[in-house]
Amino acid sequence: MDKNLKDKTTKLIDDHGRHIKKLRLNLLDTCNMRCMYCMPEDQKFKPLEDLLSPIEMKKIVANLKGFGIEEVRLTGGEPLMHPQFKEVIKELSKLKLKKLSVTTNAILLDKHLDFLKDHNIKDINISLDSLRAKSFAYITKKDVFKKVLGATLKAKELGFNIKTNTVMLKNINFEEIEDFLAFSSKYDIEVRFLEMMKIGYARQYFDRHFVSAKEAIDRVSKTWTLDQKQMPQDSTSFNYIAKQNDSSAQLGFIASETQPFCSGCSRLRLSNEGILRPCIMINEGPSIRDLDVNGYEFVLADLINKKPIERLEQTIHQMNEIGG
Ligand code: SAM
Ligand code: SF4
Repeated sequence: MDKNLKDKTTKLIDDHGRHIKKLRLNLLDTCNMRCMYCMPEDQKFKPLEDLLSPIEMKKIVANLKGFGIEEVRLTGGEPLMHPQFKEVIKELSKLKLKKLSVTTNAILLDKHLDFLKDHNIKDINISLDSLRAKSFAYITKKDVFKKVLGATLKAKELGFNIKTNTVMLKNINFEEIEDFLAFSSKYDIEVRFLEMMKIGYARQYFDRHFVSAKEAIDRVSKTWTLDQKQMPQDSTSFNYIAKQNDSSAQLGFIASETQPFCSGCSRLRLSNEGILRPCIMINEGPSIRDLDVNGYEFVLADLINKKPIERLEQTIHQMNEIGG
C-alpha cells in the first residue's frame, strides 16, 4: 500500500504530488437535449432502475470525504432529470462538503433554484452554446433558448455564482465569441469556452468544427485587452479579465485538446452505478457501491496511481456517460 496515500491531514496525494480532492458525480446518462457534440438524436439511455440511490450516494461520498474529497460536482447527462434529484441534494448537503455544485443545461433549473439556494448550493455551471435562438436549437436540438437564458439570469439575480460553458464550433457559434464577452460584461457572468473534445459522437465533427483556445484568444485579442488571472494549480480552465473601453468581461478557456490539464488534475469520477474512475479517459474502475469503509484505502491507493499524467487519446464512452 502506498504510504503517502493518506497523510496525517487525511489527504489523497498521488505519486506525482497531485492532491486528489474533487469528485464528479454522474447522476444519470439521460438528457433532455441532444447536443450535436455529445450524442445522436436517437440516443438510448440506461434504465433508471440501477442508479445509485440518494442514500447510497451519501454513504459513498461520506467515505470518500474521510479520505479528503472536499468538493463534489453533480453532472450527467442532465442531473436535474434524476427522478430523486431533490433527495440527492438533501442527502449530500448533510455531509457539509466544502463545495457541492451542479453542471446543468438549465432546462429544468428555474423550478429548482429556491430549493438549491435553501440547501446552500452556490455554484452552478450552465451550458449555453449560443446567444441566438436558432443556433442554440441547431446545436442542442431543443428550441429552449429563452427558457435557458431566463433561468441563467434568474439564477444570477438570486446570487448564485454562475459560469456558462460554450463548446466552440467553427461556422456555428464561434462567430458569437464577442457577443459572449458583451454578455459577460452586461450580466457579470463568467463565460467559458470549451474546446470540443474528440470523443464519442464529437469525432465526426472534429475536422469541420474544432476551434482551439489559441484561435479564440487571437480573435478576441483584436478587440479586447486580455489580462490573465492567477488560477489554482488544479484549475481546468485558464482565465482572463477582458477589457474594452469601459467594459470588463470574465472569460475562461478549457483547452482539453490542445492544453490538457492532466498534470494538475485533482478529480475522481463516480458513475451512476457506483464505478469509481481515475480519469475521464479511463473506461474501467472498481465498483464501490457495496464497498465496506475498510476497503476504501486499498481501492483508492490503487486508483490514484492509475491517474495518467498526460492526456490519453481514447475512451469508449460518450460525454453524457462519463459526466463532463
Ligand atoms: N447536461 C449538463 C450540461 O450540458 O451542462 C451536464 C453534463 S454535460 C456532459 C457537461 C459539459 O460537458 C457541458 O458543458 C458540455 O458542453 C460538455 N461537453 C459535452 N460533450 C463535449 C465534447 N465532446 N467536448 C467538450 N465538451 C463537451
Ligand atoms: Fe445533454 Fe449536457 Fe450532453 Fe448537451 S452536453 S446532450 S445537455 S449531457
